[in-house]
Amino acid sequence: MHSSYSIIDFFYYRAFDVPDDDAAFERVASHLMPEGGSRTWNNAIMELGGVACGKKPRCDEAGCPWREWCHAYQSGDFTAPDVPTQPSFEGSRRQFRGRIVRLLGEHDELELDTLGHRIRVDYTPDGEYGREWLRSLLSDLSEDGLVQIEKGNDQITARLQ
Ligand code: SF4
Repeated sequence: MHSSYSIIDFFYYRAFDVPDDDAAFERVASHLMPEGGSRTWNNAIMELGGVACGKKPRCDEAGCPWREWCHAYQSGDFTAPDVPTQPSFEGSRRQFRGRIVRLLGEHDELELDTLGHRIRVDYTPDGEYGREWLRSLLSDLSEDGLVQIEKGNDQITARLQ
């Protein structure tokens, strides 16, 4: 167990999936720390933690710049040390946004329905969780500058920006 948790720990835990133990946190912290830039680095993480990645992460609301790489954002598991239960607020929408970003990171581009079927088993093009739902997630991601949407003849494709 880790003895006391700070905002920096929340970030490492969520962003890099660092296990909850002192030695692991220290290893990751020293690995990531830019040489001679520890103050700047710590200040940046404190700032990120204060604005976006506190006990209740505000990934989309705060426009967190780490979303494209963040383990928690992509897995939908935002639990962190000292925060034992999965927060329910905004959870589902954010989770699916994370899945889209992760999948698009693995492909050059994906067509709308292919993407839909890959991110949820109950995707049905004309259903409640179908094209309309997916297009609204994609258009939020596009407004946030994470995803680019292309409309061809009869086809919509998405790719990371
Ligand atoms: S995307 Fe969310 S969970 Fe990940 S670092 Fe940003 S605020 Fe934290």
